[in-house]
Amino acid sequence: MTLTARFYALFLTALASYNGARAEAYRVGPAVLVMGIKQTMSVFDKLPGLFSSDMAIDLGTANTLVYVKGRGIILSEPSVVAYHVKDGVKKVLAVGEDAKLMLGRTPGSIEAIRPMRDGVIADFDVAEEMIKHFIRKVHKRSTFSKPKIIVCVPHGATPVEKRAIRQSVLSAGARRAGLIAEPIAAAIGAGMPITDPTGNMVVDIGGGTTEVAVLSLGDIVYARSVRVGGDRMDEAIINYLRRQQNLLVGESTAERIKTSIGTARMPDDGRGSSMLIRGRDLLNGVPKETEISQAQVAEALSEPVQQICEAVMTALEATPPDLAADIVDRGVMLTGGGALLGDLDLALREQTGLAVSIADESLNCVALGTGKALEYEKQLRHAIDYDS
Ligand code: ADP
Ligand code: MG
Repeated sequence: MTLTARFYALFLTALASYNGARAEAYRVGPAVLVMGIKQTMSVFDKLPGLFSSDMAIDLGTANTLVYVKGRGIILSEPSVVAYHVKDGVKKVLAVGEDAKLMLGRTPGSIEAIRPMRDGVIADFDVAEEMIKHFIRKVHKRSTFSKPKIIVCVPHGATPVEKRAIRQSVLSAGARRAGLIAEPIAAAIGAGMPITDPTGNMVVDIGGGTTEVAVLSLGDIVYARSVRVGGDRMDEAIINYLRRQQNLLVGESTAERIKTSIGTARMPDDGRGSSMLIRGRDLLNGVPKETEISQAQVAEALSEPVQQICEAVMTALEATPPDLAADIVDRGVMLTGGGALLGDLDLALREQTGLAVSIADESLNCVALGTGKALEYEKQLRHAIDYDS
C-alpha cells in the first residue's frame, strides 16, 4: 500500500468515528431532552394528586385496600369492625388490623364483625363506618379539595348494593364516586391485555367469593361469581378437624393453617409437612395440642378446591368458541389472596388442562387495577360508572 493510500484509509477511519460520535450525540441528545421533559411532567402529573388525593378503593370481603393517585397503595387492612352496643346504639371501637385481633375473642358487650361477609354488604351501617374510617385515615385534612373516589364492586352486585356503596363513599366526603367491575380491575392489575380483541380469563379468589370472568375489548363477555373463597376453605378446615380429630378450632387458627401449610393437592409423599395446632378437645372440653399434616389439609380443602375448578369449567363452556380458543392459548390468570393457596395452580391445571398463572402481587391486583383506572381514566372511561 502506498503512503497516500494509507493516509487516505486513516482519514476515512477518522471521519467514520467522528460521524459515529456525532450520530451518537444526536441519539443521546433528544433522549436526554425527552427524559428531562418526562421527569418534569411526572412532577406536574403528581401535583393534582397532592392537592386532592383522588383514591381507588378495593372493598374486599377480607381486606380493604386504598390506592392514592400518584402514590400507589397506601393502606391495606382487614375489613373488620369492632363495636360496642349500648342502648341499641353502635359505637365503633376499632377498625382494620386492631379489630381483626378481636375476632372470636370479644366479651358479650363488644362485637367484632366483617361487614362484607359473603361477597355482599352484610351490615350497611357498619360497612359505611368502615369505609369512612379508612378514607379519613388516608385523606388527611391538609388537602384542599374533596377527593374523587373509584370503588370496585363485584360483577354480580345488585343496583341496591351499588347505590349503598356509592352513598357511603359520598357521605364519607367524596366529591364524585365511580364504580368499576371487579373482574376488570383484577385483570388490569394483573397486567392482562384486556383491551385486545382476544379472550382473557381472570379468576379472582377472595375471602367470600371466587369471580370467574372472560374479558375481551376491555369489557366483560362472561362473569360468574360463586360463594367459595378463603372463608369456605377456613370453614372446611374447622369441619375437618371437628369430624376427624374431635378438635374445635377458631377461624383465625384455621386461616393460619391454610396460609402456612395449606395445599390444594395431595403431597407427593402422601404426607407433606405438618404443624402444631391448638384447640378444644370436644370429648373432654379441655384445650389440646395436636399435629396436622399437609395431606390432611389437602383432604379438608378438596371440596372448595373442586368448586373453584368447576366454576372455571362452567365459564369455559359458556364462552363463545373463538374466545375459548384464545383462553386455551393464553391460559388462566389467578388473582386474590386465594390464589396463594399452595399448588392451587397445579390442581387447576390438572383438572382443566389449561395453563394457569398466578398474578404478581395477587392480593393487590384489584386495588392496583382500580388505581390504574383512576390514573388512566380517559382511556378506561367506559369501564367506570359514575351515575347508576
Ligand atoms: P377479598 O378481596 O375478598 O378481601 P383477598 O383477595 O384480600 O379477599 O384475599 C383474602 C383471602 O385470601 C383470605 O381468605 C385469606 O385467608 C386468603 N389468603 C391469604 N394468603 C393466603 C395464602 N398464602 N394461602 C391461602 N389463602 C390465603
Ligand atoms: Mg378482592
